[in-house]
Amino acid sequence: MADPHSSCLIIGAGPAGAAAGILLAQSGHRVVVVEKQDYPRFHVGESLIPAVNPVLKELGVWDRMDGAGFLRKYGAEFLYGDGEQMVHNVFANGFVPGYEFTYEVERAKFDQLLLDRAKEAGCEVRQPVAVKSLMQENGQWRATLSDGSELTAHWVLDASGRGGVLPRTLGLKRSGFDHLPKRYAVFNHFRGVRRRPGREAGNITIVRVPVGWFWSIPLDAERTSVGLVTTGAKQQRPEDAFAESVAANPFMRDWMAGAEALGDFHVEADYSFRQSQFAGDNWLLLGDSACFLDPVFSSGVYLALSSASSAAKLINEARERGALTPAEQQGYTRQINDRVAVMNELVSLFYDPHGFSVFMSPTNTLQLFAAVNSIIAGHTQMGPGLRWRFRLFCAICRLNRRLPLVPLVELS
Ligand SMILES: Cc1cc2nc3c(=O)[nH]c(=O)nc-3n(C[C@H](O)[C@H](O)[C@H](O)COP(=O)(O)OP(=O)(O)OC[C@H]3O[C@@H](n4cnc5c(N)ncnc54)[C@H](O)[C@@H]3O)c2cc1C
Repeated sequence: MADPHSSCLIIGAGPAGAAAGILLAQSGHRVVVVEKQDYPRFHVGESLIPAVNPVLKELGVWDRMDGAGFLRKYGAEFLYGDGEQMVHNVFANGFVPGYEFTYEVERAKFDQLLLDRAKEAGCEVRQPVAVKSLMQENGQWRATLSDGSELTAHWVLDASGRGGVLPRTLGLKRSGFDHLPKRYAVFNHFRGVRRRPGREAGNITIVRVPVGWFWSIPLDAERTSVGLVTTGAKQQRPEDAFAESVAANPFMRDWMAGAEALGDFHVEADYSFRQSQFAGDNWLLLGDSACFLDPVFSSGVYLALSSASSAAKLINEARERGALTPAEQQGYTRQINDRVAVMNELVSLFYDPHGFSVFMSPTNTLQLFAAVNSIIAGHTQMGPGLRWRFRLFCAICRLNRRLPLVPLVELS
């Protein structure tokens, strides 16, 4: 008799959905992945951090990354808009050895690579088809799809991104992370953006400016993704805010001199939140569907892939029982929240001018800078040595609000 608890419906084939599909299919589950868009498709979220490397190995795609043409990323650079002061975080100089590099990925290609691997592992992929509604019937899920068909499955994994199909169905409560003003991002791919020479050519560059910050992510020999994250004036067209900010900042002006936009600008707005719970008896939320953190430290794909890996392990463990215990549900929610909390500490100090001034004046006394490098690489599951160093670094950032340990830099 067929295993009654082995059928899984995965909503969405971004990194979270495809990764969960690969891992569950590899463990012998019957997996249907439903993706509403046709691939390849544009998606934001192109800079990875080394903490994704073990999951990419688990998924069997690590050895395909160079061949797919993705650029190696050895570190990250943070600058002020005048270009005078720069901090270069080199992953290899982290407190935790290993993970010396990862990749910058054009998402159209990366997501296709993962989805191809999911098909290879045995997933059935329905695309372009959206999950319209979900209901539970006798312990099974019944989904209605946009092509008019229906699907039943024992498990539902919602990897549908920030739109979250299942959270809406279940009426889960969303909360925000901080009390900072709402932000939006405006971004595009460009030809002719400057690069660092040699090994640093694949670095992400983050430039702090008065209205927010820019990212510059090299994607291949020619193309670079550049975006502005800002609270900026709502009445202004986003692409005008982008152009105005580039023109107003000496570093960006020089970095983008002669650059040519390769398509229409994209905009994403108001994006940080988390759901009240990430799992129930026979459902789990993965990646952005569970929670979305400000992208300044490139943690989104890491959180998506690591949640998929954790979810697949839990389903395997619960296969006989057919349901997650309350402890497993809470453990999953806590595990993701713990990863997010570490990255969120970095995000908070980035937006606090006093914290950011400390970040931009690194000292390796007590290996504090090495510890920060490790967190930037995504080592959120901290051992004791990393934990106390990171705590001390955050305490110094907070103390800088009261005692002028590091001078506050005026943003230009
Ligand atoms: C401005 C900005 C910059 C970012 N920069 C970075 C970065 O540099 N590095 C990084 O790691 N992360 C970054 N992120 C975050 C990153 O984009 C996400 O965290 C990541 O894509 C999450 O993956 P996911 O699989 O959870 O969701 P997604 O990648 O969003 O995939 C969800 C999929 O579900 C599909 N879907 C939605 N609804 C349905 C439905 N009803 N039925 C079927 N399919 C459906 C969608 O079509 C989509 O393909 C950034 C985000 C923003 C907003």
